[in-house]
Amino acid sequence: MPIINRIADYAGELTEWRRYIHQNPELGFEEFGTANFVAEKLAAMGVTVHRGLAGTGVVGSLTAGSGQGPAIGLRADMDALPILERGAHAHRSVNAGKMHACGHDGHTTMLLGAAKYLSETGNFDGTVHFIFQPAEEGKGGGKKMVDEGLFKLFPVEEVYGMHNMPGMDVGSFAVAPGPMMAARDNFEIRVQGRGCHAAMPHQGVDPIVVGANIVMALQTITSRNLDPQEALVVSVTQFHAGNDAFNVIPDEIMLRGTCRVFSGDIQQSLPERISRIIDGVAATYGATAELTYHKGYPATVNAIAPSDFCAEVAGEIAGSADGVNRAPLPSMGAEDFSYMLQEKPGCYIWAGNGQSAGLHHPEYDFNDELLTVGASYWSRLVEKRLARAA
Ligand SMILES: [Zn+2]
Ligand SMILES: [Zn+2]
Repeated sequence: MPIINRIADYAGELTEWRRYIHQNPELGFEEFGTANFVAEKLAAMGVTVHRGLAGTGVVGSLTAGSGQGPAIGLRADMDALPILERGAHAHRSVNAGKMHACGHDGHTTMLLGAAKYLSETGNFDGTVHFIFQPAEEGKGGGKKMVDEGLFKLFPVEEVYGMHNMPGMDVGSFAVAPGPMMAARDNFEIRVQGRGCHAAMPHQGVDPIVVGANIVMALQTITSRNLDPQEALVVSVTQFHAGNDAFNVIPDEIMLRGTCRVFSGDIQQSLPERISRIIDGVAATYGATAELTYHKGYPATVNAIAPSDFCAEVAGEIAGSADGVNRAPLPSMGAEDFSYMLQEKPGCYIWAGNGQSAGLHHPEYDFNDELLTVGASYWSRLVEKRLARAA
């Protein structure tokens, strides 16, 4: 089996670590216990530990060989989600309402496993920065680390990320050049009409009718403005209007929603396009509309050479190239590793979690069989990318 033998021997220990982290989940920017755990493990391995980036972020640095070799970054995320766990296993969350439902417990452990192996074997020439980031789930901990100088303090040639993927076999991977995950923006639209008695609608301006037209008109951005070869979702997810009365047309309404897109150019064009639609529709009915646009995570885009390289490494761990899906398979989900990939070339890969419940599901659990696979992937990546001169 292509898992590194020495790492296969870590299986029991890594499972213990993963279950400990799973049982003690912490939300974004509150990963105090998890960061302590990570820092203690790294220090015990002889890895140099830096703390405090983005609050709870931890970076471990390990140099081997001549000391002149290049540096690369490997990144894991540490935060849990505000979900009440439903799984019945013994390592169920002890923090009610918090749960590792995205497998970041496993990501953290796989990277620790690689740090253990690489610190014991040192079979590379260069420096590895093990980046443990807080708050991936919606709060942009990765961006905060970058903003606080991650790559100035720890310069790297490339940066690499990995996420587990339910529904794919353990030991299989998926990676493609270009977009892997979408950009995610949110928007709010306030429509100002003029309230009145519902029996005398001519005396007011009905913002509900305007809002309903806006919801329909926004769908034409995808269907009529966009090149059909491109991907974009514009979803209105909230429509707040009126109060308890049956007979009152309200003064104003609020719409909220989200946009998912791969292309940065299309993402840039969205606020202007939405504004034109809402202004035009509102004007048609004598109302006004105001857009507040919140730019979120950018698209997660793999550089070409690193994604080819990672596919090669993954193929070695999978046992054959057949174990690596190379088809473009972007997800409309979003991921804040994107901020690191905006700074440095690199690659984000999916590793199969087997037939588990889906990500963010209350019965999800990271598959412990993946721990040694993922740690082997990281370790081989380092040994290949930072290979010692023959
Ligand atoms: Zn998640
Ligand atoms: Zn995740």
